[in-house]
Amino acid sequence: MPYDIVITGGQVIDPGRGVDAPLDVAIKDGKIAKVAAGIDASQGERSIDASGHIVTPGLIDIHAHIFEHGVGNGLDPDLAGVRSGVTTIVDAGSAGSANYDGFHQYIVGTAKTRVLANIHIAQMGLAVNPEARDANDVNIDETIAVANRYRGEIIGVKIRACGPALDTMGIDYIHAAIKAARESGVRVMVHIGDPQWNVDPTITARLLPLLQADDLITHLYTGAPGKVLDGNRNVLPELLDARARGVGFDPAHGRFNMSFEVAKRMMEQGILPDSISTDITKQGRLSVVKSMTHVMSKFLALGFSLRDVIKMSTYVPAGFIGMQEDLGTLAEGTAADVAILSVEQGKWTYDDALGVSLVGEVALQPVLTFKDGEQHPVDYGPFPWGWLPNRA
Ligand SMILES: [Zn+2]
Repeated sequence: MPYDIVITGGQVIDPGRGVDAPLDVAIKDGKIAKVAAGIDASQGERSIDASGHIVTPGLIDIHAHIFEHGVGNGLDPDLAGVRSGVTTIVDAGSAGSANYDGFHQYIVGTAKTRVLANIHIAQMGLAVNPEARDANDVNIDETIAVANRYRGEIIGVKIRACGPALDTMGIDYIHAAIKAARESGVRVMVHIGDPQWNVDPTITARLLPLLQADDLITHLYTGAPGKVLDGNRNVLPELLDARARGVGFDPAHGRFNMSFEVAKRMMEQGILPDSISTDITKQGRLSVVKSMTHVMSKFLALGFSLRDVIKMSTYVPAGFIGMQEDLGTLAEGTAADVAILSVEQGKWTYDDALGVSLVGEVALQPVLTFKDGEQHPVDYGPFPWGWLPNRA
């Protein structure tokens, strides 16, 4: 047989290559072998009928919390991953230098989903809350050593611009993460905004000038103190400067830091996210975050096109993790990471982290996932009735 699997009849949406057409996808030895019209199903050991569905590169979630059994909020990496259409998932600082080995051994080493990570600048990661009280909880040298030991797997240093360490250390806390990132050759991922701590409202304007191309701001559309809108609800000039330097913007949804109202206000001012991610946790999956496709559907409800939403969930994040040559695309010869999704029309209700609702006309739902050519069924779904959101 020329192919292992042939996926027939779907609408292939591969925004990185500008493809949006009814095409068939053939997989061989874990790679995309061919994407073309009219590939005969009989040419594969097996065939999958994707009629009525869309076929996209495997989804990439660059902000999730999946240190299950290591951190209280850690979700099963495959529940957030291949069983939700996500083939590559990036943990956002659940582990720090003192407990990263455990993350590597028990999460990266056992998940069916491709797992990468940001290491937290606080040495215990998010195993304790607050993760850092003062400089004693931050070990820059060890962070660099661990990032170097897991080169290629650790792709960033995470810091949250909130909490007691920011009060005791001031901007030096941010500098610590930047130093560790620069010296280990990875990006820094800065969490802005937070309703849980007394966040100095000037901190975001002061840290933005420290970021350079490829660094990431996460929680772009937070409505909490530390947000990037000023008192007149205008975007901070420091954010515009950061964009011009090539700093990446991600609106990681989470339970606390996504406001539809802030999103709309910032969209009016031309501030769009580069990527989409969930910030999913065990608790978030049970409340407003639900899944990658659910968060993507919220961006459809905000007015983004299906093609843009898929691009922000595949090709762009592949670039953020330095893997655009092999992931986030269905180009021939790349990893056979594929998501088959259904696009359900209706009147669907979506909630942000503040309980504000939006009605959308489309709900995305995962149907079947392939990672490196291996087939994974999807989970039952995060709602009592499955995947689809509440009807409006
Ligand atoms: Zn997070």
